[in-house]
Amino acid sequence: DPRLQGISDAIRVVPHFPKHGIMFNDITTLLLRPRVFKDAVDLFVERYRGMRIDAVAGIEARGFIFGPAVALAIGAKFIPLRKPRKLPGEVISEKYVLEYGTDCLEMHVGAIERPGERVLITDDLVATGGTLCAAIRLLERAEADVVECACLIGLPKFKDFYKLNGKPVYVLVESR
Ligand code: IMP
Repeated sequence: DPRLQGISDAIRVVPHFPKHGIMFNDITTLLLRPRVFKDAVDLFVERYRGMRIDAVAGIEARGFIFGPAVALAIGAKFIPLRKPRKLPGEVISEKYVLEYGTDCLEMHVGAIERPGERVLITDDLVATGGTLCAAIRLLERAEADVVECACLIGLPKFKDFYKLNGKPVYVLVESR
């Protein structure tokens, strides 16, 4: 698809951010180009429109940029998966391991309203897959049916992990 090259070209790679040795994939440069931003959303919408998705769950913070646009276009609800102590209602939480230390995602109890709701998870980038795995566990504890995870960018060195907890991961482009 010719749109993918434009998406890849619009992502800025920032060396040594947030610390030395890390090549950070910055999607904010893509957001400045409305036609490319729309191409990215459209590609997700074209893929998921026919899949009977009930909910799009976005991972804080960059999963909140693409998730709601896709959700509105396919007629699904949006569920924010947030960092600890941000959601005001009763939550369930899932810890996950990072390169250094641990982090946690939370979801409101009641966000999944019926067992078997079909959910798409969105984020900007998959690296080790640890974050997406935590999101999958969280949704499955609420008896959701996770259909797929969708990210703009995948890191090629982690390609073997593109199936997480048995769930497929769909990426638009690989990191340069
Ligand atoms: P993982 O859990 O190792 O797959 O890391 C993915 C998470 O880290 C996602 O929530 C990303 O937003 C974030 N992340 C890791 N590396 C980058 C990057 O280069 N650019 C933007 N986000 C990143």
